[in-house]
Amino acid sequence: MPCVEDRPEFKEPFDTAIYNAKIISGNNEPEFYGMLGIVGEKIAYVGTQMPFSAKNKIDAEGMVLAPGFIDIHGHSDFSILMYPDAESKLFQGVTTEVTGNCGLSGAPLYADAYRRWQSRWKNKGLHIDWNHPSDYFEKLIAVKPSINIAPLLGHSNLRSWIKGYAGASLDKNEIDKLWSTAIKMMDTGFWGISLGLEYPPGIFADKAELDAIGSVLREKGGFLGAHIRNEGDTLLESVGEVIEVINKHQIPLQISHLKTCGRKNWHKIDSVLFEIEHKPLDGIDVGFDRYPYNALNTDLDWIIPQEIFDGGSQNALERLKTKEIKSKYAQYLRNRYTDQDAQNIIVTAIRDDKRELLGKKISDFINIYDTKFWEKFIDFLIEIEFEAEASFIFMDESNLRKILKHSLCMIASDSSVRSYNDLSNPHPRTYSTFVRFLEIALNEKLLPIHTAIYKITGFPAKKIGLTDRGIIGKNFYADIVIFDPEKIKDNSSYDNPKLKPSGIIHVWVNGKHIINEAIMQGPGTGKLLLKG
Ligand SMILES: [Zn+2]
Repeated sequence: MPCVEDRPEFKEPFDTAIYNAKIISGNNEPEFYGMLGIVGEKIAYVGTQMPFSAKNKIDAEGMVLAPGFIDIHGHSDFSILMYPDAESKLFQGVTTEVTGNCGLSGAPLYADAYRRWQSRWKNKGLHIDWNHPSDYFEKLIAVKPSINIAPLLGHSNLRSWIKGYAGASLDKNEIDKLWSTAIKMMDTGFWGISLGLEYPPGIFADKAELDAIGSVLREKGGFLGAHIRNEGDTLLESVGEVIEVINKHQIPLQISHLKTCGRKNWHKIDSVLFEIEHKPLDGIDVGFDRYPYNALNTDLDWIIPQEIFDGGSQNALERLKTKEIKSKYAQYLRNRYTDQDAQNIIVTAIRDDKRELLGKKISDFINIYDTKFWEKFIDFLIEIEFEAEASFIFMDESNLRKILKHSLCMIASDSSVRSYNDLSNPHPRTYSTFVRFLEIALNEKLLPIHTAIYKITGFPAKKIGLTDRGIIGKNFYADIVIFDPEKIKDNSSYDNPKLKPSGIIHVWVNGKHIINEAIMQGPGTGKLLLKG
């Protein structure tokens, strides 16, 4: 039995005692039956004796008690300020989220980056009035989030501050500036730096620029979170690119949402896993994460080559309107995607005047057998000025399982906190990632339960560098989930994503019983977790 104290000597009663629980420590060790006592924010006792006195007692007969789940790849940087109760995460058992992924963090926001994100969020009702991380962190603390937030620093925030959204490489002076700025920003408490190499402006980063980021991490510590340059046609080269950086600088790597994207690339699964297992030098910590669904979700324009955004969206619109560029890009899409791919693109968010298309497939309103399908698709992007998001069902179910059960894989939502009344139709991963993963792991016997739990607790905690969370043990923070393994169920779907999952019965965050018998108890007690 791990982390167990068999002869407790208690002077004070517990605030909460949980008994009859099947306890899974989060260390990838098998479960044991026992009791747990909480005092204040921390776990005061884990063991087999009945605690003698407690203000609240909870009988967890038939239930599993585990550390609160850690979402190592989230995007709540901005939305947590609008929805600090974080219900969409808490109801799937998440108590800590790593924000700032895919190159984009809530701060710093200066120059072009500030203007872009301020105008994007204005329409959604969030007023961005900060620049420096310390001002952003103050805001975050003031809204009293219900979950803990551990931020990464976005490389794209730095690049767009220095160079705007221009497509050029950084010159020597600009790289020096990127390096010294990143060094300063890391001192404010980020756990690492994220890259978004598939999107502008991250897409414009060359080797020298990635080297600068690697050297910052080498000096300051923390891990590199990498949304790689391409997850389909040049998947292996894109993995190779980031492994080169971590080998040179001897820094830890977390590859974001690993996948083989597009039917023509499904066969690459074994090769990409081989690269990840064998290319990093000895002793370098490499891992990856994945959401348990076969669709990705992002801006609808993701599907066209992102170089078109050199200089910003307006420039891209003008370029796409020219006949040659449109037909060149349409041909590119025809070569790259099959008809089946094209029939599996679902609109998940769209500007107001096209709301009737929400939840529809693109092939519901553009004929898939039309030889000009992709030209018409580009015309549609121009018409809506890129203002749409979509789920692309481009991945393979058996590859998904291979990834999920791999020993280097953690589970992550790749989502931001959302309301259950959200006007868009977000990817179901937003509401159910962790429950769906447990459902697959247990029902299909993909993994033993303690290993499944490890992938969403102790394993990500270790990667991030959280030494006092992710484990059920004395003096660890009382971030705890109790779930019913018989009832654990993802109720959401692409058509109807905004449904609470079943089976998560209790959640504590920093000792506060925030979900009790599946009912939310405010206000929140999440903390901003900073490195240092
Ligand atoms: Zn990403």
